[in-house]
Amino acid sequence: MKHFVRPFLMSAALCAATFLPAHAEMDVVRLKATIEKSVEADYPKLDALYKDIHAHPEIAFQEVKTAAKLAAEMRALGFEVTEKVGKTGLVAIYRNGDGPTIMVRTELDALPMEEKTGLAYASHDKTVWNGRETFVAHSCGHDIHMASWVGTAKTLVGLKDQWQGTLMFIAQPAEETVSGAKAMLADGLFTRFKKPDFGFALHDGPFAYGSISYRVGIGSSNSDSLEIMFHGRGGHGAAPQRTIDPVMMAARFVVDVQSVISREKDPTEFGVVSIGAIQGGTAENIIPDDVLLRGTIRTFKPEVRAKMLAGIERTAKAAAEMSNAPAPDIKITEGAKAVMNDPQVVATAEKVLKAAFGDKFRTSPPGTPSEDYSEFVNAGVPSMFFNIGVYEPERFVAAINGTGPELPSNHSPLFAPVPKPTIETGVTAMTLAVLSAFDQHARGK
Ligand SMILES: [Zn+2]
Ligand SMILES: [Zn+2]
Repeated sequence: MKHFVRPFLMSAALCAATFLPAHAEMDVVRLKATIEKSVEADYPKLDALYKDIHAHPEIAFQEVKTAAKLAAEMRALGFEVTEKVGKTGLVAIYRNGDGPTIMVRTELDALPMEEKTGLAYASHDKTVWNGRETFVAHSCGHDIHMASWVGTAKTLVGLKDQWQGTLMFIAQPAEETVSGAKAMLADGLFTRFKKPDFGFALHDGPFAYGSISYRVGIGSSNSDSLEIMFHGRGGHGAAPQRTIDPVMMAARFVVDVQSVISREKDPTEFGVVSIGAIQGGTAENIIPDDVLLRGTIRTFKPEVRAKMLAGIERTAKAAAEMSNAPAPDIKITEGAKAVMNDPQVVATAEKVLKAAFGDKFRTSPPGTPSEDYSEFVNAGVPSMFFNIGVYEPERFVAAINGTGPELPSNHSPLFAPVPKPTIETGVTAMTLAVLSAFDQHARGK
């Protein structure tokens, strides 16, 4: 009964171990072609879904309409959908006989920023977030992930006589605030529903479409957020001697904190501090009472993280002391932990994806952005997290060679994936990855 995928994948594994390399590789290539044909046929619908979600993005924990759109798509495919898991999250289950449960995750949320791509389907939407009005945009490409997620579900359902087990497709809120995964877990993701045996997730990035990058081991960084309130004493800008100027302290801190990176941290270890927001003051001639700084701290290793946190605290206190000001309030909020890819899940998917994508499937160094997918890994789901490119290969090569402009990255207001080849690669790669895990499990019995 399960005669289609399994012989293809088995022969790929066999060939890697023993013989018949050319033959086996062709089999995976044929499977890939079958999947691509199915995606091509589904693409108009996926394109419409992508552009609708792109034009109407929703921010962390406000993803009500987005979740409803995905719920409708998954129900139409025959999934059993539970809504409002972790506030706005979704769990969609598809049972197809005995076998492992495999999780595929997408994010739902967009970013509080203005899109400036000028695309016909660009977002012009606004919302209120943290008490302020803001534009909203899918500048991280989570809309690409959602379209790929629905496409993968559709493709796997279409191939359902080729695998056995359960699909657990989850749509997670609030990835950008690294709180959605925790919210879903706290709401019983792995107790109300069966904990999956394996998990997969993908993220897009500013490299060539059709290409996939992955990592063995550390896949993303630890992320902590930083909030420092410098307290001064406000007064007239023309009489600074009667004030304690918190703008001065903030400015000094922003510059000096970088010496923690350059002088205290081992230069061969990864660590970044970026200040993304400075809030203080109302007019040119008023020294404010307080200034608030917000930033992000990224590291791979716990010992580097500890050293950086200590250095940041010391620098902030020193900046205040130099101004004879009270000690600042320093708040460090632990965010996502580094995503660790599981060596076995990666090894299984690697064989198939390598045979399918050739040298367009390659390893890359750990990524410096962070991901709360790590929550699922740390809850005990061996996983593979990989990246897909979004731009025309020629533009990417030109940007690398310096013969063309730099390409906008995720979180840029100009981030503009080319939808069709990006989503098609996302669906094809994710479908093959999931099939590889089902196949490996079936053969392991
Ligand atoms: Zn992002
Ligand atoms: Zn993202």
